[in-house]
Amino acid sequence: MRRLTLKPGEERRLRRGHLWIFDNEVKGLPGDLEPGEAVTVVDSNGKLLGSGTVNPRSRIVCRLYSRRGDQALDVAYFKRRFRSCQTLRERLGFTDVYRLVHAEADGLPGLVIDRFGSFFTVQHNAAGMDRRKELVLQALDEVFQPRTVLSMDDNPSRALEGLPSEVAWAGEEPPEIAWYEQDGLQWPIDLSEGQKTGAYLDQVFNRREMARYCRGARVLDAFSYTGGFGALAAKYGAKEVVLADRSERALELAKEMFARNGLPEPRFEQADLLHNAPKAKALGGPFDMVVSDPPPLIPNKGSKRDGLKKYLGVFTDAMRWTGPEGLTAVFSCSHHAGRDDILEQVKRAGRRAQKRLRRLAIYGASPDHPVAVGHPETEYLHGILVEVG
Ligand code: SAH
Repeated sequence: MRRLTLKPGEERRLRRGHLWIFDNEVKGLPGDLEPGEAVTVVDSNGKLLGSGTVNPRSRIVCRLYSRRGDQALDVAYFKRRFRSCQTLRERLGFTDVYRLVHAEADGLPGLVIDRFGSFFTVQHNAAGMDRRKELVLQALDEVFQPRTVLSMDDNPSRALEGLPSEVAWAGEEPPEIAWYEQDGLQWPIDLSEGQKTGAYLDQVFNRREMARYCRGARVLDAFSYTGGFGALAAKYGAKEVVLADRSERALELAKEMFARNGLPEPRFEQADLLHNAPKAKALGGPFDMVVSDPPPLIPNKGSKRDGLKKYLGVFTDAMRWTGPEGLTAVFSCSHHAGRDDILEQVKRAGRRAQKRLRRLAIYGASPDHPVAVGHPETEYLHGILVEVG
């Protein structure tokens, strides 16, 4: 493997556990390095830092996948990583539905794999993984013998890596809606043209936690998608469930999901919850419990201020929809908002909504989405549960 040498001092962050090298931190890239090529990374004194994949087209010119030098990124490596990822998930109590590979945090930068039984979805979000699609497939085949592997490479972040948007599958043709089982319920993944959204496995533990607080409660699942929070709440004895989302398609799927699981039909509110969101009454509230799980509202670093204002608005609405002594759970899945940013917006929202808040818990993503300590970019989901007095 060829060598990539850092400028003096630029190794410090990496030694503390960070896994990315930016274009201004290297001594100069050999011009003929190909996107995705594996290199051995050394500091300015020639001391070993690890192995990484390069991408001269990206600001992140190198992503470390191993602390060893000359670590081949071959089928054997992928198989070893996949087996180790599976062992960790099984240790955590997952059986066959989980995030198998959480990119950098699992030693496979840019690679995201979700497992739904024998159906797998894969995202190659960095050149190093894009270049090795065939190896990824081969290793998956040898370890799991999947029925279908669907490459959902339409994530906008691929553009930053100079990669095209494309969707492809191997094995059996995927159905329009794939169903999987979890927590005693059947869940849909929408695979119809242009809707390839997958499922939000990062919320699995949080849905279970919220369901515990929903017995006998009137519950609003805001930004519901197919109603994951609401469905589990219904299963665990919520008195009434309202699902609110802008997407007609998501609410249709939610309807199908509730029916398929024999759950009482919830109330559906198709509404824009970001602009002039409806008042509590219009949604059938106020509620004993509100879960608000908006899409990422900070698309890039530069829009952080604006994005945080949007969170403030969303959180304020959630608190206004909550009745006296009710509970509000708010979430952010923006990579650009840290836990402190979100805590601050919750505090402000309480003031704006003129509510007295008591914080009850803080949540992250389910543990099949590990966070690489030292590489904060692997932590993105934050949840806060408050009692709204
Ligand atoms: N809570 C869900 C995941 C939510 S994903 C779960 O547990 O599965 C975010 C959802 O927000 C998507 O369904 C999307 O359709 C919806 N959404 C995006 N913009 C919106 C808007 N302006 N108003 C209402 N819903 C919106």
